[in-house]
Amino acid sequence: MVSLNDPKVKAYIEETVGPEGMRLVDLLAAKEEATDSELAEALGEKPSHIRKILYDLYEARIAEYHKEKDKETGWLTFYWHITPDHARYALAQKHKREIGKLEAMLRYEQEHDFFICPSGRERFDFSAATEQNFHCPEHGDILQAHDNQSEIQHIRARIQELKRAAEG
Ligand SMILES: [Zn+2]
Repeated sequence: MVSLNDPKVKAYIEETVGPEGMRLVDLLAAKEEATDSELAEALGEKPSHIRKILYDLYEARIAEYHKEKDKETGWLTFYWHITPDHARYALAQKHKREIGKLEAMLRYEQEHDFFICPSGRERFDFSAATEQNFHCPEHGDILQAHDNQSEIQHIRARIQELKRAAEG
């Protein structure tokens, strides 16, 4: 039996395949390995549906398979098992990518001046505002200087949150 105790990994799996996929993962964890038709039968689902979930799990590095060929018929059977360690690694990579994206957004906010339309609240950076001659293309209003401290705080808070999630 493969341990699925890590709540972060469980949340990652659930996010990837939903509660229905989680049933499949729990079953697979209890069985160590199983074929798609065994899983379909145990869960009362169509094999094609089970294969789709398995493929999503494979893409997210939560499950892997090995195949065996029947010597007489040449028929291939896929044996699936879950890989919580790979899932943990994939999750850490995902956090890293998200943090990288947010850090790029943060730099953009910090290195640019922003302007805002008083009617529609559309936001323009300095070069976009210059292109519009400091008038909103939608409302015609004169654009006003905008203090982006709250955006910066918001991005910083999300980075902190993700870093905590990555560590804890
Ligand atoms: Zn506007």
